[in-house]
Amino acid sequence: MKVRFSARYLVLLVAKILVVAGILAAMILAVNVLFPPPPGLLHDWPRLGTSWPYTLALLICVLADYGLLRLALWDQRYRCRICLSRLRLPTTEGNYSSVWLGGAPYTEYVCTWGHGNLYIPDVHLASGRKAVWVGYQSLWENLIKAETEEVEK
Ligand SMILES: [Zn+2]
Repeated sequence: MKVRFSARYLVLLVAKILVVAGILAAMILAVNVLFPPPPGLLHDWPRLGTSWPYTLALLICVLADYGLLRLALWDQRYRCRICLSRLRLPTTEGNYSSVWLGGAPYTEYVCTWGHGNLYIPDVHLASGRKAVWVGYQSLWENLIKAETEEVEK
């Protein structure tokens, strides 16, 4: 078992973050067009905090963009680190009533192409147990390795 991340996984994450940043920039430009500065002496006066429609519109834009960023990160978390496909077959293991004996409950997700598993803890403690990706060699290498080990026995 080996923990691996492909470059495509990181490129997809950076691309999502750039798209979300671009959407935020476009929304800020749209707000600036929809709420132009007042004419006259207050033309250069900062509008953020002094003009409530402008401030409210920017607040809505930032909150919506934060939601998009969280959605992108959530989607990225449940993707295979190698082939970027969505992880499937969530299986809950462990027992809430016997954490010490049976292990803390967690949910296991599987890449259907056999690249690895993602273990996400279901119990969130102050100790900060994190999700763990366990990557595998290719499916065929694992089968050949298992067969050779079976022949050697
Ligand atoms: Zn995969």
